[in-house]
Amino acid sequence: MNSFCPNLFNHVMNDSYGVYKACCLHVPEIKDGKVTGITVDQPLESFWNSKELAEDRVKSIKGEYIKGCDVCYRAEKDGGASQRTDLVEVYKEDKDFIERVKSARENKGILNHSPISVEYRVGNLCNLKCRMCSPQDSDLINNEYKEITSTLTDNSLINLFPTLKDPVNIDMDQYCNHIKDNVEDIEVIRFSGGEPLINKSFYELIDFFIESGHSFNLDLRINTNLTKLNLDLLTKFSKFKDVNIDFSIDGIEETYEYVRYPMRWKVINKKIDMLESFIKNNKTNIKVYANYTVQTYNLLHMLDAIDFFLERNFIPVLHPVTHPQYLNIKNIPDALKENVVSKIYKKIDFLKLKYADKPSSNINWVVSKLTSIISLIKLDSEKRSINDFIQFTDILDKKRNQDFLKLDPFIYNHFKSQSIL
Ligand code: SF4
Repeated sequence: MNSFCPNLFNHVMNDSYGVYKACCLHVPEIKDGKVTGITVDQPLESFWNSKELAEDRVKSIKGEYIKGCDVCYRAEKDGGASQRTDLVEVYKEDKDFIERVKSARENKGILNHSPISVEYRVGNLCNLKCRMCSPQDSDLINNEYKEITSTLTDNSLINLFPTLKDPVNIDMDQYCNHIKDNVEDIEVIRFSGGEPLINKSFYELIDFFIESGHSFNLDLRINTNLTKLNLDLLTKFSKFKDVNIDFSIDGIEETYEYVRYPMRWKVINKKIDMLESFIKNNKTNIKVYANYTVQTYNLLHMLDAIDFFLERNFIPVLHPVTHPQYLNIKNIPDALKENVVSKIYKKIDFLKLKYADKPSSNINWVVSKLTSIISLIKLDSEKRSINDFIQFTDILDKKRNQDFLKLDPFIYNHFKSQSIL
């Protein structure tokens, strides 16, 4: 098999339980209900050259199976690309990277430098409760699910709203210090969450990088919901070598409000206008990626959102939801699939025409990603997901005073007619 992955030679991050790992998709081992691993109060080095990671590097070079990487293997098996294959493309001609791999091969997987890319995940502190997210992503979801499950008696319904047993308690101050200690080697710093922009250590690290002069050598990557973005921050970001703002936006207008509850579209639209005009009016190195998690709720509105992003020169990045299964687009009712696919094809044709004369829109690349989405829709579905979808949607709609039937009667009615509830 091919299991070679650049992340193992470049990157570290913390997961939402405060344990180091190689990437956001890597699934840690769980023993006695607890995530195992090296906690971020230990120095970066203790994970970076740990026995486990060194062994995974050797396996990766030999093309052997690596525990925890199944998300990528599954995506590749389903006929699509994976984060692993995307990264292999990015690094295949990078001379420094090739040297790193060579050195790891000669030293039983041990590397003689710190990670060049670090992700600082601020835990699950968040100001939104997006439909596809879990309590690990947002403390507000955890609280809401606790309220919901306290009113339920049926276990199959309670299982749709899993809550965290223990509060997420990470020693972020120590992790912050380890990053500062290794700043000389770091080339890329990514912030993710929860929501980084409501976390004080995010501001502490940004100021540290600027005041120590390292920002000019660092590529800054931020996953944010944009709700707290302001001009002062954008000015600070401009002091970094290169900046990607990966903003999460899973729809526009009513779809946005439905999925990214309880944020209002008019608020976020103003932030988008501010970001767009900052980029236009300043000579800036900021690139904007519009991250769209493709799920049952926003599937039919996806092309309108992509059009909105392309008009603003934002790069659309499509992330199909793999979990929970009832939001996975491969699990929409079979009777719906052909119809949905033909609706998507029609809109693809419209986009191709609209952006044909605008090569900077990368329309061909966008279309290739949409083609992968269509392949996913066509995969075999899991029947149980139809009932789960209806139950989860109805309970959460009631709690939030929302109505998916109003947002998308076509999809909702198809699910309802196929469910056995
Ligand atoms: S193979 Fe996938 S899951 Fe494993 S480290 Fe690479 S990107 Fe992460």
